[in-house]
This record gives sequence, structure tokens and C-alpha cells, in this order.
Amino acid sequence: MAVNVVAIDGPAASGKSSAARLLAEALPGSVYVNTGSMYRAVAWKARRLGLDPKNPDPEKLASLLESTSMRFVPTPEGRELEVDGLLPGDELRTEEISAGASAVATIPAVREKLVQWQREMAEGNRIVMEGRDIGTVVFPDAKYKFFLTASPEERARRRLIQDGGNPSEEEIARVAAEIAARDKADSSRAVAPLRRAEDAVLIDNTGMTLAETVELLCEKIRRKVVLPYRVPYADTDQMGVVYYANYFEYFERFRNELLRACGYPYRVLEQEGIAMPVIEAVCRYKASARYDDELDITGFFAEASGVKVKIVCRIYRAGQLLVEGHTVHACVDMKTGRPTRPPRFVRDLLEPEN
Ligand code: C5P
Repeated sequence: MAVNVVAIDGPAASGKSSAARLLAEALPGSVYVNTGSMYRAVAWKARRLGLDPKNPDPEKLASLLESTSMRFVPTPEGRELEVDGLLPGDELRTEEISAGASAVATIPAVREKLVQWQREMAEGNRIVMEGRDIGTVVFPDAKYKFFLTASPEERARRRLIQDGGNPSEEEIARVAAEIAARDKADSSRAVAPLRRAEDAVLIDNTGMTLAETVELLCEKIRRKVVLPYRVPYADTDQMGVVYYANYFEYFERFRNELLRACGYPYRVLEQEGIAMPVIEAVCRYKASARYDDELDITGFFAEASGVKVKIVCRIYRAGQLLVEGHTVHACVDMKTGRPTRPPRFVRDLLEPEN
């Protein structure tokens, strides 16, 4: 698991860049990487060389990248992308370059090269990286994954306000259409399309301020529990795979750590007179785990209704989902033996299931 990576994906103008930049400032020692600017830089360089970035020639772009260098450097405005020793700055953000970036981003050779550079940027660094395929392709095993989105109108309004001025309804509609066209191109392309990784936390920040979005991201990161577990021989059966029933024990190990991370180890809950017996357990097996495999066990509180709590659990090996399931617990007042409402902290930490 890439414990040093926070992956943020989402459609155009969803607030990813600002949120990722501020999040990197909030997480000590983290570096912010805006991968969209790298695709923009390819379109920008192509244009400077007289190529049409909106109708890119794959072979010419591949050879152009052979003689290109990109790195993020500190500037008075923050970290900027330097391309072949030059700082293109705002030239990367024109509408023409935006459309060109979407076009060059469909070319496999371009993606391959940029993904390679993006992975290298994480070596020895803690990074917050944002783009379209970070959680799905660049770092499928990132410990923290988010998918940020907002309504198309809100995104258009933000983009226009960011560019200065007080946009009219017509301008908002025009930019919303341009953003929608880019989303469609990004989501429907054959290579690394924009989509939410199944284990990414979905955040719709329509109506939220930037500060609220960043606070929510920090909160999710603080609460995220991933339990590493190496499979011993004792857990496997005659076929050499983890015996199916053992996964329920793995779920329990995870629940213990989840409650501990929330500040309420199960022992404390019991001392406060609350028990949470399991009343339902479900497990779906997608692939087998074997002896010595290194597993990552994770999950979240998915529901707290009436007197029940549902906890989802997912088990991964190197980013591949092997097993997913859940347990449902009844909350019981140990003194009276009667059902009781779930503790407040559980209700505050619910996350939607995919
Ligand atoms: O994020 P930004 O709007 O700057 O990205 C510009 C374009 O680059 C996107 O519309 C998308 O086509 C492409 N892109 C991508 N994969 C990434 C980041 C950006 O395909 N990881």
C-alpha cells in the first residue's frame, strides 16, 4: 500500500487543485502535484512547435516527450510546473490548451510517460496528487483516495470567479457546457478514463466552501484505518488459500482498530455499558489470499439507523480487492439488555457505500 500518497480525482473545476494544494500544506512534509498541468504542458509544447494539440499526432507527441523535461519548482505563487527550464504559468490555463490537454491525454504513449514521471515524484516523498486517474491507474494502492465533484453550474461559476469578475447566467451556461464536454471526453476515452476508484471516498462539495472541503479531507485522513496483516500458515486450508470463515475474524480485527481510532475501543464501550453483538455477517469472495500474502484490511461505518450499525470491510492485496463484506450490529444497553441508539460518534462518521 502506498502509505505516502493521497490521490484526489474528479471532473474539471471540481475544486481539486485548490483543495489538494491546501491539503498538502496541512499535512506535514507533503508535496502537492497537479497532474492536469502536465497534460496541459504537453499540449502547450506541441503548440509552440507548430503542432495542433487538438488533433495530435501520436508519433510526433511521443518523440516530443523524449526531449522534454518537467518538474515542479517553488515560485512566489506556489509550486509551478517548469517545462524544459521555462515557466508557462497562465499560458497553461487557456481554453485552447484545456481542450488540447484533453486531446493529448487520450494518447497511450503520452499517458505512459507522464504516469512514469508521476510515480517517480512519489519516491521518497509524501505527496498529494490530483488528476483523473490517480486512484485508478497511477497509484491504485494509494492509502487515501478521494473523488471530488460538484454540480456543473457550481463548477462553471467557480471557474469564472477564479478568473475574476461577476459572471452572467449566459457565461455560466457557456462554461458549464465547455466543462461538460471535457468531462464527457475524459470519461468516455478508452485509456484511463475518468472514473471513481471503487475504494475512493466520494465528496460532492456543491455548496461547501474550500475550507470546509479541506477540513473534511483532513478529517477522513485522520480517521482512515488500514490494518496490515500477513497471512500465516494457520489461516490457510488444504487448497493453500485462506479458509473462507477466517475473513470474519479479519473483519473483527479491523472493527477493533476502527473503534480504537475513533477514541472508543470496544473495551471502553463495554465499560460504558454498550455492547454491539453481530446480527448479520456477509462476505463476498473475489480472489483468494494465500500464505505470506500481505493484506490491507480497511472499511468504514456505513449505516446507523434505529439501533443498528453497519460496518463495511474490504480486504486488498497490493491494491486488488480480494474480499468485501459487512457486519450489522445491534446496540444493546448491557444493564437492561434492551436495544439502544448507536453511539453519537458512529452517526458522525458515516460514509456512503459505492
Ligand atoms: O485537471 P485539469 O483540468 O488541469 O486537466 C486538464 C486535462 O488533462 C483534463 O481535462 C484531462 O483530459 C487531462 N488529465 C488526465 N489525467 C490526469 C490529469 C489530467 O487525463 N491525471
